[in-house]
Amino acid sequence: MKTKNSYKQLPDEKGYFGKFGGRYVSETLMPLILEVEKEYNKIKNDNQFQNELKYYLKNYIGRPSPLLFAERITENLGGPKIYFKRDELNHTGAHKINNCMGQILLAKRMGKKRIIAETGAGQHGVATATVCALFGLPCIIYMGEKDIKRQSPNVFRMKLLGAEIRSVSTGSKSLKDAMNEALRDWVTNVRNTFYIIGTAAGPHPYPAMVRDFQSIIGKEVREQIIKAENKLPNLLMACIGGGSNAIGLFHEFLDDKDVEMIGIEAAGHGLNSSKHAASLTGGEPGVLHGNKTYLLQSNEGQIEEAHSISAGLDYPGIGPEHSYLFEEKRIAYMSATDAEAIEAFQYCCKLEGIIPALEPAHALAVLIKIAKNYSKDNIIIMNMCGRGDKDIFTVAEELKIKL
Ligand SMILES: *Cc1c(COP(=O)(O)O)cnc(C)c1O
Repeated sequence: MKTKNSYKQLPDEKGYFGKFGGRYVSETLMPLILEVEKEYNKIKNDNQFQNELKYYLKNYIGRPSPLLFAERITENLGGPKIYFKRDELNHTGAHKINNCMGQILLAKRMGKKRIIAETGAGQHGVATATVCALFGLPCIIYMGEKDIKRQSPNVFRMKLLGAEIRSVSTGSKSLKDAMNEALRDWVTNVRNTFYIIGTAAGPHPYPAMVRDFQSIIGKEVREQIIKAENKLPNLLMACIGGGSNAIGLFHEFLDDKDVEMIGIEAAGHGLNSSKHAASLTGGEPGVLHGNKTYLLQSNEGQIEEAHSISAGLDYPGIGPEHSYLFEEKRIAYMSATDAEAIEAFQYCCKLEGIIPALEPAHALAVLIKIAKNYSKDNIIIMNMCGRGDKDIFTVAEELKIKL
């Protein structure tokens, strides 16, 4: 590993993590992005804002989420101590709301009266619709036509919460196209609208801002593991779609050089098939949604569609900070297939009584494989970033079980 003063100080003032990130947007979008950046820089050290955020994290979301010693999995694997950070216990069932709460409080402070967001699986859409209902702001969610069909329970949830769903029928009719439409809406409704992006991607300052709001995960983990074990973990693990829950866990520890980290991408039907979502392992650098990062693309540079059984990992890009940490080799990136995730999903249900979302089931699949490389006095912490209620139908179908 290269010696560096700190991995935690990026991005630079132009939004770059090494050669990744930046602000590849049209001139019409630039003033909006600059305004968000300016206001975001103000609230970072504003006590009143931070206290308000703390209040809602505690009383609305239910933070801090516990750090659980997973006793039966530890015993079953017979090696290192396994801990789960239980972000699946948050209100709305995943980590996404940590970020939505931060961004909506910023939007309110900026006097914005209308919220837009994109969603793929619907998890970010539900979290956004939730905070919009909480603060009484109108909410418009862009969602690919294909995803609307695939994710009808979440579409209904968003509607119950008062959001308007706008179906996107351009391109592949999924997440990447929904994000394009949301950016288009933002340009047209400059003055009153705030765009809540759901992962650590997009133009600067979004990757840094989303990371900062999710970093509560790692900060709590540091305190909790010191209290439980009086030492730092040897390894941190998290699944990666755009990379927000992973960077949220990892960021706090980036400069603790003895803490190893693994991000887990979705290998879908396998890395040698064209049906996967492993942007780092199987992609090349390019530009999408306002930032430079690793992307799944064809030889001609066309963005390819991602595939994963877990809709939350089904994104052809990855946040730029991960691209940087990948090339720096500070974080290792591995992957798990659909089939491996389904197996880990069932394993977790039976051994810990926790039905995990299919996203963290990917991280668990890799954890199960590599645990044997660690000794009994080692500690592994995995982010259980979402619960699996939303996934039971997918799993049943995969196991050919009629409900
Ligand atoms: C959305 C989602 C993900 C993927 O997003 P990241 O930004 O990579 O965290 C992972 N897990 C769950 C439960 C999700 O809802």
